Amino acid sequence: MTDPIHHDALKAWFLGPRGENAELLERLFTEALRDHVFWRRNYHPEDGFTIRELDKRREGYDRAVATLTQELMGLLAELKRGVPFFSGRYKGHMAFEQTIASQVGYFAAMLYNPNNVAIEASPVTTRLEVEVGSQLAGMMGYDQDEAWGHLTSGGTVANFEALWVARNVIYLPIAARGAADELGVDLEVERADGSRVPLSRLNLWELVNMPPSAALDLWEALWSCGSRAEVHDALHGHSLQTLGYQEYVRRLSEAFGDPLPPSVVLVASTAHYSWEKIVRALGIGSNQLVFIPVDENFRMDPDALWETIVELTEQKVPILACISVCGTTEESAMDRLDRVLEVRERARKELGVTFHLHSDACYGGYAAAVTWDEAGERRSAAQIQASVGRPERESDLSAWPSPDWVRSMEALAETDSVTIDPHKLGYTPYPAGAVVFKDRRARELVAVDPPYLLPTQGLGSAEDLFLGRFVFEGSKPGAAAASVWLSHKVLPLDERGYGHLVERTVAGARRLYAALAGAEMDPFRLVLLPEPDINIVCFLLTHPGFRSLEEVNALNEGIYARMSLSEPGAQPEYIITRTRFQTPMYDGAVDPILSRLEVGSPEEWKASGKEGLVVLRSTVMDPFLADEEDGPDHVGGFIQALQSAAGRSLRELRAPASER
Ligand SMILES: *Cc1c(COP(=O)(O)O)cnc(C)c1O
Repeated sequence: MTDPIHHDALKAWFLGPRGENAELLERLFTEALRDHVFWRRNYHPEDGFTIRELDKRREGYDRAVATLTQELMGLLAELKRGVPFFSGRYKGHMAFEQTIASQVGYFAAMLYNPNNVAIEASPVTTRLEVEVGSQLAGMMGYDQDEAWGHLTSGGTVANFEALWVARNVIYLPIAARGAADELGVDLEVERADGSRVPLSRLNLWELVNMPPSAALDLWEALWSCGSRAEVHDALHGHSLQTLGYQEYVRRLSEAFGDPLPPSVVLVASTAHYSWEKIVRALGIGSNQLVFIPVDENFRMDPDALWETIVELTEQKVPILACISVCGTTEESAMDRLDRVLEVRERARKELGVTFHLHSDACYGGYAAAVTWDEAGERRSAAQIQASVGRPERESDLSAWPSPDWVRSMEALAETDSVTIDPHKLGYTPYPAGAVVFKDRRARELVAVDPPYLLPTQGLGSAEDLFLGRFVFEGSKPGAAAASVWLSHKVLPLDERGYGHLVERTVAGARRLYAALAGAEMDPFRLVLLPEPDINIVCFLLTHPGFRSLEEVNALNEGIYARMSLSEPGAQPEYIITRTRFQTPMYDGAVDPILSRLEVGSPEEWKASGKEGLVVLRSTVMDPFLADEEDGPDHVGGFIQALQSAAGRSLRELRAPASER
């Protein structure tokens, strides 16, 4: 069972649903503020005072303070109409409260307002950010000496950067080929099948199918073929980054005859909608997003992935990247990443085809913490199962996690890049996303050299710590880095800290799942989706009188309206959210649900279009829900609220239109 020390610590990690730890937070906030003020007072005391005590006794001063105080009171009152993320009654989106550590870290650093765009504007917090990047890389299983990571404003930008880098790595060999010609050199390179040949012998298809690590080796080797300036100019003269797609394709047809069809990005069909934005923004085009079907557990189907790769290869369509998901936004499903990796390996060996493999672990990344023990060794599925525990009523549920789950998490170490959102399962304030690359050299392919740049001085040098060079964003909050950093200090990225926290949320989600499975919903019937891979419980309600999907959707839409803040003035007892499964993305997952609903034929599903199937969804980020003895019964309360909302929804559906 759970280690009692970790479990007791949980009560100190958050302000608490009733502000139980207010004194602690206040003490730390005050400490941070006072300490900052001491710093100011002792900074060149010979400068004297700018704001004197007598200035504070003037009318204009008083008025300014009065305005500030008054307006703040107004703001504070407004803010209470916000979302009660902290409460056990909130079971909606992936949001809970933040760790005290992250709040205090943010506040303390915010007073200094460091800008992590460049080390000279953030001598302390840039280092913290690099350290956090390394910690996250370690949690993914990457070699920390080779990897590189940093914070972003969120998962969307992190994903953008991962694909930006991936695209540049995949196209690098083409630019390198042009550059080598120009420099009058030839280099030996590795092909997808592992054989080594001169660069000049590769055709276009082979160039775009060079393994990412071989492409980076080539990039490194090229730098010794001339002066820095010569190589720089030669590479830039041929790279997509400088030329842009139109000119690039024109040159490809000139140099190789056939420019090949547009390259595609493979994504699990459960992928976050940010991928659509990203391929549009990068000029790849949303037509080039190829959705891979998911299975009934919402995991990318590895066989379908293989078949897609074979088809694309037959048509000579290059694959830029494959995006696998670790913790889908809707269901917290985890792709079988180990099997996705097997497919990539098979494609490399049998088809000579390769691509960048990215895991979108924006939601699920922190769950990797459960696989690490204090000593930095991996925990087995059995060890984790023992610490998560399984209360009596959950005996129908399978043990969590499965050995396959652990294998999928361990497989993160073999990806080329991963994105993780500290502002989701890291419980830190916004904005905090992160991207980590397995091979730090990759960041050079997006580096922009500002005019004031110093020559390379190696790791930890001013150049190395000039984050703005290697990242998409410019000015960025050093406070976010301090926030994540302090939270990682208090909650280590293993079974003692984040691992324990995530385990408790999983235990809570399972408690809710088991209770829903056994709930008497008369006259309704509750249909649960498969057990979640992490902590999002999805379900829907139906009524024996229903004959169509449309009726089922209307009932659940009505429940959602009564259990959300979507309508102004709503005061729901419990808050959930909902999603819509749509065809064809969810085709692989919907059959078992339809058959359990006992309405909705495959034809009806196919014709449902944008309406799709409305599914109710509860993200359990509340680590206190798992404990039955302590606190209010938010599981029982939730089920009652659900039943009552369903009753009201049905009455509205049945009422004649005039009464609605
Ligand atoms: C939330 C999420 C994103 C986007 O992250 P933001 O921080 O909202 O920009 C991307 N992918 C997945 C899987 C997510 O859950």
